[in-house]
Amino acid sequence: MSTSPHGPRPEHHDEATLVVTGAQVMDRDGTFSPATVTVVGGTIVAVERGGTGVIGGPSGGAGHGDERVPGTFRHDVHSGGATLDDVQSDGARLGIGRGASDGGPSQGAADRRRSGTVRHLDASGRWLMPGVVDCHTHLGWTTFLPEDEDEDDDDRDEGGAGATAADHPMASDADRADAALLSRAAPGLAATLRAGVTSVRDAGGAASAIREALVAGRLVGPQMQTAVATITDELARDPAALRARVRSLVAEGADWIKVVATGGVMAPDGSEDESPFDERDLRAVVDEAAGLGVRVMVHAWGGDALTHSIAAGVASVEHGMFLTERQADVGAARGVVLVPTLAIYSEVAEMARRGELPERVRARASRVVEAHPRAVRRAVEAGMTVAMGSDFGTTDQHGRNLTEIDHLAAAGLGAAGALVAVTQAGARLLGRGSGVLEPGQVFDAVLLTSDPTDTAVLRDPRTVETVFLGGAAVS
Ligand SMILES: [Zn+2]
Repeated sequence: MSTSPHGPRPEHHDEATLVVTGAQVMDRDGTFSPATVTVVGGTIVAVERGGTGVIGGPSGGAGHGDERVPGTFRHDVHSGGATLDDVQSDGARLGIGRGASDGGPSQGAADRRRSGTVRHLDASGRWLMPGVVDCHTHLGWTTFLPEDEDEDDDDRDEGGAGATAADHPMASDADRADAALLSRAAPGLAATLRAGVTSVRDAGGAASAIREALVAGRLVGPQMQTAVATITDELARDPAALRARVRSLVAEGADWIKVVATGGVMAPDGSEDESPFDERDLRAVVDEAAGLGVRVMVHAWGGDALTHSIAAGVASVEHGMFLTERQADVGAARGVVLVPTLAIYSEVAEMARRGELPERVRARASRVVEAHPRAVRRAVEAGMTVAMGSDFGTTDQHGRNLTEIDHLAAAGLGAAGALVAVTQAGARLLGRGSGVLEPGQVFDAVLLTSDPTDTAVLRDPRTVETVFLGGAAVS
């Protein structure tokens, strides 16, 4: 069964009204300023800039002089459960109604929601940003080698963690869509959501059963789109077979088609420059996928694989550490999104440096780590959109996703650019709204205890205090 990325929203929305006051709230340009955010039924109805008595600033630092207990809910300020009419009569204080003049749907939303409790979240001394969109995860994986998934997870090789999560092709296997799969994926899904990631695109390994369980509320985790499995080079130069594979993947519930067009970190040197797929192959995949309402993502380190992918009009290229200026120019013109994966390769290089990977991999990983930020800068200079991908696929990695934001900032996006990339660029790529905290958007958001314009704070998961998915606070 197929679920379109643009299909019905899976969350179970909280019908109550939520008013978040006192926080520094991220704006469209990645800067923060005081604002009051009002959410009704899981959707933002007003964002009132200016706010009241908010401490600190994006550059002024936090003077955590809290008299009130921040980050705590006060339930039911109108005893007995307020109706929304009560709230509107008190609209000046709560800021409801004024957002409507921005063209937001606040009045319409208010009219539709005649009852429900009103909760106030005093977020003084906190920073509120849109939920992070991770466009490249492997949440069906918990270990280094996918075949290990059939064995005891405790036996996994810690030394190898991450290396093939970056690029290992998975065979599709409907049998994996079982209770064991769901229970194995559950901790990583929960950790990823609690880390502040509210939407993911899984790049292979997450059977559609995982997405269905999330939709049904049987698993806790981010909103998910999944490629289910990957298309690998055995079908290269056979457009008819590629089209058939696209159809079978969509029949298995794939929201995206993922093609692995170059080798990865364990592959021989030079493999990144050889593409088993030609442009005709990739055009066939894009065309077949488009006819079924899904889009295409391609694992491509560089060389012809990148050139052909961009020419074929894929939605995104993954990794892309050897992106050339010419490829970046064409990518920008064609609207192709670059999803670099900086953190995982720096972890692989570090493991290699410690001697935990073969010498051959060490040199290759070092070369990748050196090239990757250059490619990101090249993409930004060419005007190519950059979105976030962690490529995380082990138990140790799930939940550390926001580390990638610090890497993106350092690679040339800067803090504000990185924060925009991991919210707006990802949301647009996934068809998940604007990725901006503004009226009409679903309230997927992250409340932080430290100023994220110093992106290094995002390496510490404790910086994330509360995550909201579809308006509901995640416990
Ligand atoms: Zn991957």
